[in-house]
Amino acid sequence: VLEERVADHSDGFDRIFKAFETTGGKITDLAGIGHRVVHGGDRLTAPTLVDDATIKAIAEQAPLAPLHNPPNLLGIRIAMASFPDTPQVAVFDTAFHQTMPPRAWRYALPRDLADELRIRRYGFHGTSHAYVARKAAEHLGRPAAELNLITLHLGNGASVAAVAGGRCIDTSMGLTPLEGLVMGTRSGDLDPAVVFYLHREAGLSVDDIDDLLNKRSGMLGLAGANDMREVERRAAAGDAAAAEALEVYCYRIRKYVGAYTTALGRLDALVFTAGIGENSDGVRAGVCQGLEHLGVRLNPNRNRARSSRPRTVSADDSPVAVLVVPTNEELEIAQQTLAVI
Ligand code: AMP
Repeated sequence: VLEERVADHSDGFDRIFKAFETTGGKITDLAGIGHRVVHGGDRLTAPTLVDDATIKAIAEQAPLAPLHNPPNLLGIRIAMASFPDTPQVAVFDTAFHQTMPPRAWRYALPRDLADELRIRRYGFHGTSHAYVARKAAEHLGRPAAELNLITLHLGNGASVAAVAGGRCIDTSMGLTPLEGLVMGTRSGDLDPAVVFYLHREAGLSVDDIDDLLNKRSGMLGLAGANDMREVERRAAAGDAAAAEALEVYCYRIRKYVGAYTTALGRLDALVFTAGIGENSDGVRAGVCQGLEHLGVRLNPNRNRARSSRPRTVSADDSPVAVLVVPTNEELEIAQQTLAVI
């Protein structure tokens, strides 16, 4: 671990390469470099070899993800300059969700306006949802094509996906990662009129509201901390706001599980992943409590046991398997990169 001031991305890359060299890594042997790109829009729907056309296409999605796509492009350019002969592949966070049917991705806005501005549900964390859905099928020893899954990516950002036969049919994040579940600092679902109300009554500008909903809401806004460990500590110590925030957090997830079970028609497994999903047995218990009528029965001892491996935490007689599957977006990006090369 190096803790130093880093001037810019290029300087950061240089230091990473030097760190490889000092630890004996042979960076000249690279087969390819995979880049996580947040927004592929509706055009970039599969891992893509980076060339001028790909760079132009990623730049064109920038208005949809102004905080993410420009830095992603910067990383690609620097890697290309450092390794001009190594193939570079862009892997899109939105790609896995492109199989959603229009009834799931279309917002009820005037069609022409929405189409012109490409306003629709895209969904994010696709690399993670794809990875854990495949790993869940492996863990269950059944073909992914036969399984209906709900994957819960609960990290600082959080989203849920309904996966039928290995394909995404619905997901909770929308045009941007703001929609859906309660997150570390994002509100998730909200009456859109709250935005007008904040503007008219509190005099907040569009940028103020953007900042409020993305960076100062969610668990931070409700409980005063965005780290789930801290929220759980406060709730255990009797902090009423933290306890209520946990209830809001778990209830929102339960509503999505109910809705997506209906969308899927039958649920085989509920899959928890990412920082909170993998580590917080309290959140897993809070989510599953009240889902018994859907066939979800946790085994409390299995749920409390810690492990870094994929595991079943439901009871043997639970009609729906509840799994914890550690995500590995880097590995998934590497594998997809290799497949493209
Ligand atoms: P991620 O975005 O996947 O890295 O997840 C980050 C989130 O995971 C943060 O809110 C952490 O507080 C949370 N997290 C990590 N470890 C634990 C834990 N043992 N219990 C509860 N939350 C945790």
